[in-house]
Amino acid sequence: LIETLADQGAVAIERTTLVADIEKARLATETERLRTALLSSLSHDLRTPLVSILGAATSLSAYDATLSTRQRLDLVQTIQEEAERLNRFVQNLLDMTRIGAGALKPRTDWVDLSDIVSAAVARASRMLRRRPLRLDLDPLLPLMALDPVLMEQVFFNLIDNACKYSPEGTAITVWARRRPTHVVIEVCDLGPGIPEADRERVFDMFYRVQAKDSQTAGTGLGLAICRGIVEAHGGRISAQSGINDAGTCIVMTLPAGEEPAVPDQGDGDGQ
Ligand code: ADP
Repeated sequence: LIETLADQGAVAIERTTLVADIEKARLATETERLRTALLSSLSHDLRTPLVSILGAATSLSAYDATLSTRQRLDLVQTIQEEAERLNRFVQNLLDMTRIGAGALKPRTDWVDLSDIVSAAVARASRMLRRRPLRLDLDPLLPLMALDPVLMEQVFFNLIDNACKYSPEGTAITVWARRRPTHVVIEVCDLGPGIPEADRERVFDMFYRVQAKDSQTAGTGLGLAICRGIVEAHGGRISAQSGINDAGTCIVMTLPAGEEPAVPDQGDGDGQ
């Protein structure tokens, strides 16, 4: 019996070692993927805007008399837009670092979800210019305990993706419904959708689905940041296909929370 148990133990240990080895190999591959992706992202996402800024600044500083006022303004606008892009990229990297270190602490307040969606839509208004945007928000949404700045970032990233990855002119929908314990929110577009095999991986850092996506501005960080923020709020986020399998729906569930009781103002206290 002792021998049998010892044999079983040895097999179990061997199995555990094997599982540990496979896990180690998986982590090493993932670390290598992240290292390569980070380096290529740094060289692309930092250098491309820097080269544009340097080019525009050089043209401006030469103070070429042949440049019209319009051309000068265009150069200034290029500098502004590219600097914004750099700023966003650095912010994304900082957010990812905080999420990775578990240091992202939402500063929650009791907020109206539709205010957060409106703020994100206003920020994305330039991208949404040629887009029918449908807001279908439950009129009975409760106030929710959310960090308004972080959640606006989530909606902005999702609307940004919907605009980038679906054809111009097609509709984008933001939908939300109250359920007994939580609120379900969807941001949907009518683009090509995300292949089923990639629907989980798109939430990994630096993961982009297709080679053709690399022609679209992006770093592969947006959805990883969304997941980090939503999970820090105790919620969940996933990618699904839209109605009739068309397009993409990013679905979030967030806890509805307990609204704080309104303090008694002393009305009708018998005075
Ligand atoms: P980025 O857009 O910067 O590449 P994200 O993390 O936001 O990074 O998205 C990861 C990848 O998921 C994108 O590169 C794209 O391949 C895919 N994706 C995201 N949103 C959509 C969408 N609405 N429709 C189709 N593909 C999408």
